[in-house]
Amino acid sequence: MTKFDVIIIGAGRATNLARSAAAKGKKVAIIEKSAFGGTCPNRGCIPSKLLIGHAHVIRSIKESQRHFISAKIENIDTQKIFDTNNQFVNSIGGIVENGIPDEVTIYKGEASFVADKVVTVNNEQLTAETIIIATGARPRKTIHEKVWTSDTLFPLHEPLPKSITIVGGGFIGVELANFFDAIGVKTVLIARGAELLKQEDKDIQAIFKEEFSKNVEVLFNTEVKKATHNEKGFTLILKNEKGEEITHETEAVIEATGRIPNTEDLKLENTKINVTNRGYIEKNEFCETSVKGIYAVGDVASKYALQHIASHEVVYLGKLLFDNHSEPLQYPYVPHAVFSDPEIGSVGITEEEAKAQNIEYVTAITPWSNSAKARSTRLEYPRTKFIVDPNSHKILGCHLIGPESSTIIHQVLAVMHIDNDIKHLGNMMHIHPAVNEVILAGARAVMKKLK
Ligand SMILES: Cc1cc2nc3c(=O)[nH]c(=O)nc-3n(C[C@H](O)[C@H](O)[C@H](O)COP(=O)(O)OP(=O)(O)OC[C@H]3O[C@@H](n4cnc5c(N)ncnc54)[C@H](O)[C@@H]3O)c2cc1C
Repeated sequence: MTKFDVIIIGAGRATNLARSAAAKGKKVAIIEKSAFGGTCPNRGCIPSKLLIGHAHVIRSIKESQRHFISAKIENIDTQKIFDTNNQFVNSIGGIVENGIPDEVTIYKGEASFVADKVVTVNNEQLTAETIIIATGARPRKTIHEKVWTSDTLFPLHEPLPKSITIVGGGFIGVELANFFDAIGVKTVLIARGAELLKQEDKDIQAIFKEEFSKNVEVLFNTEVKKATHNEKGFTLILKNEKGEEITHETEAVIEATGRIPNTEDLKLENTKINVTNRGYIEKNEFCETSVKGIYAVGDVASKYALQHIASHEVVYLGKLLFDNHSEPLQYPYVPHAVFSDPEIGSVGITEEEAKAQNIEYVTAITPWSNSAKARSTRLEYPRTKFIVDPNSHKILGCHLIGPESSTIIHQVLAVMHIDNDIKHLGNMMHIHPAVNEVILAGARAVMKKLK
């Protein structure tokens, strides 16, 4: 049996832990069964977000009439779009792998546990006092083997389907639907409920639903009961809220209905590591599992399933294990974005969460039209919503919907992290008339309601 100080299972975000451990002179092994870098660069954030620029330019041309300009698209070279993006994505795995220090032993294969501190890979047994599980998550099993998920969709390639149906009204579904619709594929999105983006604040959800549905056809309150496939594509049997069955023809289908943790292959039954009833690894506030010395980070053990959360946990664990840090892990003010059209940027709690938690709060929702730069987009829907504690003046939540919301939200995030008081945003000088004035207007509106 080969003995290490640290074994890391999964070379996604946790790859950075191999570097920090090696820098402290530890004998480290990292095990990866697929592409180095994990979901984000290979089949997640990066390949999906590289599509935004193309969709954005197409939408600007298609919507140029809003600015009293007549323009039309002559050609969209999808082959070039796919090739350029795939080339970049394909290069990342190698960059990540090459960035692993030489002293770290790399195993390419699937790891599983033989006992608490014994792991097997490629018929070799390894042991270490510290083991880090970072095996991520994957899409649920699809209704038909020819249905794509984010794992099988990327790398995108020709021939492009003429029609596509995306199942799932979460962030992955609406981001992909926006791209396919923009490039001219007839796109239908199927949502199980009456809303899209269920985790968003209700006011933001309502605006998103209205604007998104102007571009993409959405079938709400609809479920896919059956899928069959032939050389022309799919026939889906859908069931709507009235219980009626509808036959829906489409050339391609993507399912984006949620992700499940990669725990089954680990053979955790050979250990005392506890998992939740949904299969996630249970961890305490120090990222430690029910077995001392075995830690879990990222999607395999997190309720958030976001790259920046996985990074946050990896940085924390690096300090805890290799830097004498001893504080428990905190998740202060978790932000997220939806990179669709419209774009959403959000941090903290929604108004519904404030109500459910019985928190005293005041709120204001303000249009962006009070900033000339924002008004110049000639979009009427963008809004800023603040939820603030009227006694302490702490920002509890901020939700933006409008162009570049994912960028603008960082101004609010910085204040929340450094000295959380809405008055900093309302009193600081903003460049006139930069788009950030939408934060100033929102802050001043909610400040009028403070005690
Ligand atoms: C389409 C899509 C878009 C996304 N967009 C965003 C976004 O915009 N912003 C954001 O913050 N997040 C986004 N995410 C989520 C983000 O990608 C994940 O939260 C992040 O990648 C999780 O990192 P991780 O290290 O926990 O897991 P992963 O990156 O999944 O890494 C786990 C690694 O473990 C390996 N592995 C699994 N089992 C074993 C085993 N038994 N033995 C050896 N190796 C194993 C896997 O092959 C994988 O490489 C997106 C996800 C998807 C699918």
